[in-house]
Amino acid sequence: MPSTGEQPGKGVYYCKKCGTRIVLDEDTDTLPPCERCNHREFEKG
Ligand SMILES: [Zn+2]
Repeated sequence: MPSTGEQPGKGVYYCKKCGTRIVLDEDTDTLPPCERCNHREFEKG
């Protein structure tokens, strides 16, 4: 499961807790904590 601090590759990720969408534009982008709830685990969209 993609987590904050990882570089899971470009694509769309959804917070497992609140569903907020995070988009990574580059394969080198690091997944941030959820900007709404600060959760750290995501599901690939
Ligand atoms: Zn969240």
